[in-house]
Amino acid sequence: MKTALFPGSFDPFSIGHQNIVQRGLCIFDKIVIGIGRNTKKQSLYTEEERKAQIEAIYQNNQRVSVAIYDTLTVDFTREIGANFILRGVRTKQDFDYEQKIAEANRILTGIETVVLFAEPETKTISSSLIRELKAFGKNVSDYLPQP
Ligand code: ADP
Repeated sequence: MKTALFPGSFDPFSIGHQNIVQRGLCIFDKIVIGIGRNTKKQSLYTEEERKAQIEAIYQNNQRVSVAIYDTLTVDFTREIGANFILRGVRTKQDFDYEQKIAEANRILTGIETVVLFAEPETKTISSSLIRELKAFGKNVSDYLPQP
């Protein structure tokens, strides 16, 4: 059984994140979406609200679950019995960032990171863009999974 942790802030969970989960399910039997608790970062939704939102999207999918964690990502990966971390990459900057962390994680713990390149249709979407548009009263529903 191959299980991956898909860690992130997901503030909010976008159709870009949804795309990574959907494609990740072709590789892994189970995906745990891990919402990292970050007390320093100002957020739009609380971690508990984000968990409820994501659970609603995957309520009929037994292969996807959602958890909140406040430990090191690799420690949480082990805690849930996963051997893989799943991440999405949109840009060169994302790539450089992911490469450094993935290497450190693999050397320290043996946990492999699987990186999927963002689809052209969703690669320009970021949670920060959604938060900014929302703050200016724009309709962001096109960027959010249904329901
Ligand atoms: P973090 O704060 O850890 O970057 P995010 O919630 O912003 O958390 O992103 C979680 C993961 O999803 C990251 O690997 C990020 O690169 C990826 N991601 C975010 N938006 C998209 C998108 N539009 N397409 C593909 N991957 C994405």
